[in-house]
Amino acid sequence: MQNKNKSELNIERNLCQVNSNISKACKRANRNTDDIILCAVSKTKPLSDIETALSCGQHIFGENYVQELTSKYDVLGDKAEWHMIGHLQRNKVKYIIGKVSLIHSVDSIQLAETIEKESAKRDLVTDILLEVNIAGEDSKFGFTPESTPDAVVVISHYPHVRIRGLMTSAPYTEDPESNRLYFRDLRKLFDGIGRLNIPNVSMDILSMGMTGDYEVAVEEGSTMVRVGTGIFGARDYHI
Ligand SMILES: *Cc1c(COP(=O)(O)O)cnc(C)c1O
Repeated sequence: MQNKNKSELNIERNLCQVNSNISKACKRANRNTDDIILCAVSKTKPLSDIETALSCGQHIFGENYVQELTSKYDVLGDKAEWHMIGHLQRNKVKYIIGKVSLIHSVDSIQLAETIEKESAKRDLVTDILLEVNIAGEDSKFGFTPESTPDAVVVISHYPHVRIRGLMTSAPYTEDPESNRLYFRDLRKLFDGIGRLNIPNVSMDILSMGMTGDYEVAVEEGSTMVRVGTGIFGARDYHI
């Protein structure tokens, strides 16, 4: 039997707990657990934490910073699947193309255009989500809900980018219920864009829900939750 240290045991237990909470939320909403993907947000956390989660069967990891993502990728490579979830500067796109399987945080047409150019250079198609500022918060990046359908149409013409869906970070709150209507609104927008059947766009990923509110997000139709603190514990600094 392998000896596990305290942090390994915590991560293992937390992952079980989060997966079980997702299952329960699915039951309440009459959804299939297999339709929800868990992205474990490992920003600021050491490689050893990611390795522990990998050994527990967690495969997808979300990172916020290009430099941190690439240095983790240099060690683990494709043993894990990497998602970029944080605000991305256009001049840093080149460092992550071909390493990340999904960019959640595309918040402007210009950024999508840069992803197109860098992906074309490498002869790749990069999957992206458009980030929507669903609550209209000044502090957040993202398209307004009103501008999102037109942005999808423009970006759909980029051959090396494929829109897979939408992403949002709902307001920080102690009471997850207060985000329920935002999640519902984003699901409506997601379904509405899906019904347009835009060529080269597949609306199949709706990335919403974090540690404080992922169960409500699942009840409201999320297909991908991004959980950091709930798996790896509190971060040394708040992001
Ligand atoms: C940090 C972060 C998360 C995870 O937040 P937790 O509250 O720790 O679960 C999810 N999404 C984004 C975009 C983040 O920056």
